[in-house]
Order: sequence, then C-alpha cells, then structure tokens
Amino acid sequence: MSGNITFTMIKPEAVSDGYSGAITEKIETAGFEIIAMKMTRLSNNRAGEFYMVHKDRPFYSSLCDYMSSGKIIAMVLKKDNAVEDYRTLIGATDPEKAEEGTIRKLYAKSLQSNAVHGSDSDENAKIEAGFFFSDLELFID
Ligand code: UDP
Ligand code: MG
Repeated sequence: MSGNITFTMIKPEAVSDGYSGAITEKIETAGFEIIAMKMTRLSNNRAGEFYMVHKDRPFYSSLCDYMSSGKIIAMVLKKDNAVEDYRTLIGATDPEKAEEGTIRKLYAKSLQSNAVHGSDSDENAKIEAGFFFSDLELFID
C-alpha cells in the first residue's frame, strides 16, 4: 500500500523570485496538507548529503552549488498516495518536458533550477523529511 507522506523543497531561485506563496497555494489547492514547514538554507555539504544518490552524476557539484545558493523551504505533505500524486503535480524533472499547469512548467527556470524537489518513494520521503525535521514521529501516523 502506498504511503500518505511526501517531502518537498521549494528551491532557491523559486524562493528568491517570490514564487513561494503561489507554489504553496497550488500544493494546498491540489489537496495536500502541509504538516511541517521550514525556511532555511543548506550548506554545500548538507546539499551534497541530501543529493548523495547523485554523487557520481556530472551535474552533482553544480547542483550542490545551486541548492546552497539561497534560502529553500522544506515541507512535509500529507495526502493519500502522496508521493505519486505530488510527482504528477510538479511535472517532469526537465521543465521543457513538464505538462502544462504543473509547478515545474509554471515556475522552473531550467533543468537544474526546476522550482521544487519531490520525493520519489515512500521510503525516501521519510528519510528526506527526517533530514529537516527531527520530531517527525510526532505528526506522522
Ligand atoms: N538535475 C540536473 N541535471 C540533470 C538532472 C537533474 O541539474 O541532468 C538536477 C535537478 O535539479 C533535479 C535534481 O538534479 O531536480 C535531482 O535529479 P533527479 O533525477 O532526482 O530529478 P527529480 O527527482 O528532482 O525530478
Ligand atoms: Mg529525484
């Protein structure tokens, strides 16, 4: 059975461009409950830890520089079938391939600066949420 939690980050350029409010509204309108939320900034090392799965990819170093370049907003979202439904809401990794109306189609600047992160599995959603929120067991059933 699929879980009801996913994790997202609004990435630096989407925050600095002032799209946080619009993106958050789109998330809530789509039926996700925001159960944890934090504006913060990642160091280059923390960004590297978050994206460790991509450490051997050519874009890793540039991605870490980008993700530590400004403030991000981390959120834990709750909804039935959260991981899959949120991936649908945000659209393809490459905004040029994202469906009309998706968050990445609307607010991304490039493949790297693609507005938001979204977990790719229930297991990773819990790991990623735990990366930012230490009191998770208090609000995840
Ligand atoms: N990324 C990039 N170049 C690529 C692929 C990915 O800069 O060729 C960045 C992009 O910001 C993406 C992140 O690395 O969101 C993580 O990549 P992943 O394949 O996990 O995509 P996602 O799960 O975010 O859709
Ligand atoms: Mg991914």
